[in-house]
Amino acid sequence: MDKHKECRVLRAKLRDLYEDSIDAAKFGVPTDEIDAKITFLQERLSQLEQSIGKNKEYEGLEVPEPSGFKILGEVIGICGYCEKEVYSGRKYPDPKEGLFCSYYCRKRNRKKQKDPSE
Ligand SMILES: [Zn+2]
Repeated sequence: MDKHKECRVLRAKLRDLYEDSIDAAKFGVPTDEIDAKITFLQERLSQLEQSIGKNKEYEGLEVPEPSGFKILGEVIGICGYCEKEVYSGRKYPDPKEGLFCSYYCRKRNRKKQKDPSE
């Protein structure tokens, strides 16, 4: 599938999940599973957008990750790059590299290790 098309599909899926989450909350049903799916798809979407150069004009700004990610689970540590708290629901597990709050922090950390002057 074309990457731009995949982005549109992911956005549509996310819209559905947001509605599901709102409905579930309305009826008092636990939303953990839906929220976890939302987090997963949001990450996937931002990786995809990054890979096709969407939002390129914003790269290099101070904020190391897109805001609005839902914080899920418990605090499990501190991000190895930006030192923010990392929650179990948004963990990027890789014991060799350490704990990062997002894909971007891990990527930036790798870059920093490759070229410390940066
Ligand atoms: Zn971070």
